[in-house]
Amino acid sequence: MTEDTQPPTSAPAPPSRLEKEELRLWRLALGLLILFATGLAALSWEQLQDLPYHLGAVSIGMLVLAVLFAAYVYGRRREVSELKHVLRHFQERAGATPSEEQLDQLSQVIARSQRSFKELIDSFDDVAFATSLDGTLRTVNRRLTQLLAVPYGDIVGHKIEDFLEEPKTGSMKAEIARFLEKRRWSGIAPVRLKNHARVLYFDCVLNAIIKDDEVVGVSALARDVTEEREKERRFTQLFETLQEGVYFSTPEGKLLEANPALVRMLGYSSKEEVLGLEPAALQSDGEQPAVLGRSSAERGEVREREIRLRRQDGSAAILLDNSRAVWDNSGNIVRYQGTLIDVTERRKMELELQRQEEFRRYLLESFPDLILVIDLDERYTFVSARIRDLLGSRPEDLLGKQVDEVPDQSAEFLALYRDVGSGRKKFGFCEYGARSQDGSWRTMRANASPLFDAENKVNGVIVSVRDITLEKKLEQQIIQSERLAAMGQMIGGFAHELNNPLTSILGVSELLQDAEVNENTRKHLTMLQQQSRRAAEIVQNLMYFSRPPAAGKNDINLSDLVQKTLHLQAYSLRKNNITVDFLPEMLPPTSGDPHQLMQVFLNLVLNAEQAIRDVRDKGTLRIRLAKNKDSLSASFQDDGPGIAPEILPNIFDPFYTTKRPGRGTGLGLSICKAILREHGGNIDATSGPGGGAVFTVTLPIARLP
Ligand code: ADP
Repeated sequence: MTEDTQPPTSAPAPPSRLEKEELRLWRLALGLLILFATGLAALSWEQLQDLPYHLGAVSIGMLVLAVLFAAYVYGRRREVSELKHVLRHFQERAGATPSEEQLDQLSQVIARSQRSFKELIDSFDDVAFATSLDGTLRTVNRRLTQLLAVPYGDIVGHKIEDFLEEPKTGSMKAEIARFLEKRRWSGIAPVRLKNHARVLYFDCVLNAIIKDDEVVGVSALARDVTEEREKERRFTQLFETLQEGVYFSTPEGKLLEANPALVRMLGYSSKEEVLGLEPAALQSDGEQPAVLGRSSAERGEVREREIRLRRQDGSAAILLDNSRAVWDNSGNIVRYQGTLIDVTERRKMELELQRQEEFRRYLLESFPDLILVIDLDERYTFVSARIRDLLGSRPEDLLGKQVDEVPDQSAEFLALYRDVGSGRKKFGFCEYGARSQDGSWRTMRANASPLFDAENKVNGVIVSVRDITLEKKLEQQIIQSERLAAMGQMIGGFAHELNNPLTSILGVSELLQDAEVNENTRKHLTMLQQQSRRAAEIVQNLMYFSRPPAAGKNDINLSDLVQKTLHLQAYSLRKNNITVDFLPEMLPPTSGDPHQLMQVFLNLVLNAEQAIRDVRDKGTLRIRLAKNKDSLSASFQDDGPGIAPEILPNIFDPFYTTKRPGRGTGLGLSICKAILREHGGNIDATSGPGGGAVFTVTLPIARLP
């Protein structure tokens, strides 16, 4: 399409020097353009080769476009200059009739120009046509012939409404009148072509064709925007029907657009009301400004967060906001667009669940029993905090552990769990010993029942455990005292029966002392007397144990009484190298029988002395007095061998003794207990910190008369 493709023309007059110069400059400019495009293509060829999608074709395309454009412009330029020559020639020879050849040339130029114009409008992607005022189509471009699927010749000269189902020209009188007045119209027009079911939308620009200031026709350029309209319609439909709230807002948080779901979420009845709200009106109490916008510090492109917006009725809506920033060319955020999901109800439910959970936990924690849940893999899945009070350990010490992994786990407990877990028993209970963190053993009672899941299948065992150590102790004490009472009765009768013959034996043996007998018989008589005295003493003690005399009602100074007892035993203690560490105290009086109480203290001192002597040749007896809330106490601590834990529960039993026959009767401590009971007091024994024994006597403080 360069000079050689143009038909040769002979100019009627040679072009002027200036025109030649202009032509030369044109050639030069176009040459440079091609050169520049070639250079650009060559330079970017290498980089473009490496890119995906074969972008190398772009540079070649650019080069071809540049050549085509240059050829087109050059051709047009030549036609115009030829026309100029012809006209000038006519002017120069005004009045002279143009020759055949000249007219031929002129018509060739005009035909070429028309062809070029036709080619130009055919190259449009948009529909272009011109009609006369009555709607007769004068010219149409290729796009329109393709759209109507009718050849060019069957369109031109026909009325436009022959091809249109809608709009009908008859129904558009008002629009046509307005167009004739304004001579221009632009806008979107829905069009339905004949034998076309679908309505197409065209973005049209109509211009009046004017001749002698009269509108004689219409030229139209129309772009098919049906697809865009369709997308827009779908988007609008989505926007309107979406359950999530959708919004556009300014960076300051002012709403620019809101869908009906958002309007509903905020409790308003129209979009206009919502769009008219200032950002502050959307703020729920305690929220920062620009709830829907973002401060400049928060530059992130996408953000998901939970926000609170104020509803029309003032309540707060909790919403899940997922927003995205939209930037302009200079990098500023111009707006935010986002979706909002109403999670108010969900949060309320979560809060309710949390409250219920807390209540359940509170219930379990304040339950007096320890609650344990063990799954079918024999693992602890729940341990209530009560375990701290009962055994001093933490729930975490058991949680997740296997039942038999826990140290000192009792066999009774394991058997109970397995019986209920396996379904052998519907529920069950057992008593077992558990070791507390302080090392002491506690007696526990466990009740176990199966734990069912949602499908009513057993998925574990729930056990409630109670510390019954104290209960057990009391129970044993009751049994013990009943046993003692029965024993006391029996011993009382027995001692009474023995007392009479013994008195006779003692009396007769004393009488026989005065009789004249040989030495050997005297010896036997003395032995008889000694042994019968000892027997009488035992009987006396037995009677004392079974029925101790009622305590007298004297005010007693405990400090003095202990001191007197120590005086009585001073010689023996000194002889056995036992140091007494006693601190007398000024205490309120107790009331009772001083002889009986002295017997108690004497018994304790004697026991200590014997215990020390059993293991060493010297020792210390430490005696301390104290005043408690409404009682007095005296503790006797020795550094003898102490009392083994297994015999501790028995030492107050009558006849319980660890001493060899003849040395102990096992009645001393039981008499002490009986005397103290008569006095409203008590006696207890423990092991001392240094290994010896500690006996503590408690007596009530005497009431003022
Ligand atoms: P007896 O002294 O005749 O054995 P008791 O009733 O006084 O009878 O004592 C009962 C048992 O208590 C004693 O046999 C001894 O085992 C134990 N006992 C008493 N006092 C002490 C002590 N101070 N140290 C160690 N054991 C003691």
